[in-house]
Amino acid sequence: MMKCSFCGREIEDGTGKMFVTKSAKVLYFCSRKCEKNLNRLRRKPLATRWTEDYAKEKKGGAR
Ligand SMILES: [Zn+2]
Repeated sequence: MMKCSFCGREIEDGTGKMFVTKSAKVLYFCSRKCEKNLNRLRRKPLATRWTEDYAKEKKGGAR
């Protein structure tokens, strides 16, 4: 199972979307919301509250 490149949630087979960047990096998105956030708004997961990366960062404290 793949994980969403933005929010970190697992993506069920047959759902979600694959995206290849100019630098040939493959990204997976669980929803259009995530796709939009990463590609259009250029937000970073750590700066977006509802992602798992954000939650982890909060729990782990300062690195
Ligand atoms: Zn997602």
